[in-house]
This record gives sequence, C-alpha cells and structure tokens, in this order.
Amino acid sequence: MKLLLIVGVLIFSNILFNSQAHAKLNVLTTTTDLRSLVAEVGGDKLTVESIAKGTQDPHFIEAKPSFMLKANRADLLVSVGLDLEIGWLPSVIQGARNPKITQGKKGFLEVGPLVKPLELTVGAITRAEGDVHPLGNPHVTLDPIRDGEIAVAIAERLGALDAPNGAYYLDTAKKFQARMLEKTSAWQKRLDKIAVKKVITYHKTLTYFLDRFGIQNVAILEPKPGIPPTSGHVLDVIGEIRAQKVPLILVENYFDPTVTQKIKQEVPTVRAETVPVAVDGASGMGSLENVIENLVKTIEGK
Ligand SMILES: [Zn+2]
Repeated sequence: MKLLLIVGVLIFSNILFNSQAHAKLNVLTTTTDLRSLVAEVGGDKLTVESIAKGTQDPHFIEAKPSFMLKANRADLLVSVGLDLEIGWLPSVIQGARNPKITQGKKGFLEVGPLVKPLELTVGAITRAEGDVHPLGNPHVTLDPIRDGEIAVAIAERLGALDAPNGAYYLDTAKKFQARMLEKTSAWQKRLDKIAVKKVITYHKTLTYFLDRFGIQNVAILEPKPGIPPTSGHVLDVIGEIRAQKVPLILVENYFDPTVTQKIKQEVPTVRAETVPVAVDGASGMGSLENVIENLVKTIEGK
C-alpha cells in the first residue's frame, strides 16, 4: 500500500512536472540582443537561447548541427531579418526540420522590418562587391527606442503562441519600453553636453545608435559593408578625419582594430576605442541598457 502510494505520488509529480515543462515556450533567437529582449518580456514564463555569441559578427556565423537541434525544439524563432542572418539562418532552419518555425508561420518572427529600417535600398537590391546590407541596415537593436518597439512586437507574438500569459508579456514589454524612453532622454542630455558630434566606425553597426542621438557617422573604415578596409580607402578616411576634425573612431570589438594604428600615426589627436556592440559582447554587458550605457560613456571619454 505504502509502495503504491509512493509510486502514485511519483507518477503524479512526473505528470505535473512534464505539463509545466511543456507549458513553457521554448524560444530561440539569432542574436544575444534579441535573446535579452525575449528574456526581458518573457521572464520566467519561457526559456530562451541565442545562436550567435555577443562577441561574433552576426553576419558571419557557422550553421552548426547543434544550432539545428536547438531550432528543432523551438516553438518560436526570433531573428532580425533584413538579410542580417541570410548567410546562415536558412541552413539552420532547413536542418531543423521544424515546421513551426518556417517563414510565414506563427513561430517565425523577423523584427527588423517592423521598426522602420534605415539606409533602405532604393530600386534593385544589390549585393555588389559583397555588400552585406542589401535590404537596408539590419543593426536595429542599438537604438533603445526601437528596442522598446521590438519588445512589444515580441510580446504580441508570444501572446499569440501562449494566450494565458499574453497580458503578462505585454505588460513587461510596455514597462521596458517606458524605461528605455526615460533612459534615452537621460542619455541624450549627457551626449548633448559633450563635443563629440562626429565619429568614424569600422562597420555600420552603430548607425541606429548614432542616428538616435544625433551623432554623425562621417566615414566607415570598410569601403562597403562586409568588405575589410583597403589601404586606399583608409587614406580617404584619414582625409575625412582631417577635413572634418573627427575626434573619435569606434571599432566594434569583433573586428581587427589594428587599422586604427596607421590612422593614429597620421592624425595623433584622434581617439580610437574598441567597443562591445551586443549583449554579452564583453563582461558586464548583460543587457542592451548596459551596452548602450557603455557606448555613451565611451563617447564621453569616461
Ligand atoms: Zn552589418
């Protein structure tokens, strides 16, 4: 009798555990920024993982079988789109054999097209000379205002997949959005006080951040998105730095920063800084708020 009771309890707790485990949505994101937004919105109501690391260039990720396995188990796949992941995500989705997360299904969400992309290509889409931004700039998550909009879009989709928690998702997303609005005006006030109004970057990773805070991206060290700097192009950039008195070069930390040494030889007054540009891009960068705060601090020279 006692044994039966124990067995009964074990079976019951197993059913309970399984039903709870089953109820939680399993979300997979392409980038750590999206992972952090899903975690912000979903709290403990879901599990979420990202494919790329914050220290990796999200354009170039290897489509490993382990990612396909994760995608096979996902209820929702969140990506940026705008061709950011075009080099690897289609292979991951194909290898996953999970009909829930294919394009057009409820389990497939691309957030980039929903938040007014910048640098949209007019006319025919071109990948001429290896340009990796043929649909416009996909680095949308470095703008805190767009991050709020993305959080709300994620909440709406989570609610469509998990109706009982729909109100919770929307509530946490709206709270995050309000917090980002508040923080943005504080960041803007700080940046308004300092003299840096023009910067050079390596890739067009910071476009949305700089656009939000009114800082001009005078030139890019890559001659085209995805193409490493050539010596001729670097000379042109040096010319721009001199002509426009650009005080700061920001190099995203997954690119080779040595190109700035040559520039500093020519223009010793220019400051060159390497910056993490994604969640988990460096220690202490556990959220988009931390990443953006760090960018503001770096521009302030702190
Ligand atoms: Zn890019």
